[in-house]
Amino acid sequence: MTRRFGAAVLRSYGSPFTVEDVLLDAGPAVGEILVRVAGCGMCRTDLAVRRSGGRSPLPAVLGHEGAGVVVETGGPDTGLVVGDHVVLSFDSCGHCRFCLNAAPAYCESFASLNLFGGRAENAARFRDAAGGGLAPRWFGQSSFAEYAMVPARNAVRVDPALPVELLGPLGCGFLTGAGAVLNS
Ligand SMILES: [Zn+2]
Ligand SMILES: [Zn+2]
Repeated sequence: MTRRFGAAVLRSYGSPFTVEDVLLDAGPAVGEILVRVAGCGMCRTDLAVRRSGGRSPLPAVLGHEGAGVVVETGGPDTGLVVGDHVVLSFDSCGHCRFCLNAAPAYCESFASLNLFGGRAENAARFRDAAGGGLAPRWFGQSSFAEYAMVPARNAVRVDPALPVELLGPLGCGFLTGAGAVLNS
């Protein structure tokens, strides 16, 4: 089933984000989840891409502080079920020495997974309404959109009693600030 939904697309450096329809052709692969995004923070890193003059591939759906509700899962290994509320964070490989030492922020594949190439096995997940390609998902999520297809590794289940539409910045801004305070 192809899903069609709205997303904020950055088409060229220095230009505004444009809200347009995008297409997602398949459901989650094994280990992925599909999340209906309830809210997303706007982080300095998203804005830096607009000024980056060619370092990150465009056109792209940015957004890397998303939170929402799981609507589909790629199997029981995700550890999540439909209806779970989740906060989304950065992607990590899960098998390098840093990931295996519980330090996924230092993943050896951090830059390629989050900034430049996405996951080789599931790289391009979206296309635009005209069928044109969009860059691989940003930070494993591309959550400036109504839906985000995410490796379950990036998703943290949260209490459904909390206002999920406000929780997204826990996935980057608050995480980064707390890390500085608690670790340094
Ligand atoms: Zn950020
Ligand atoms: Zn890793």
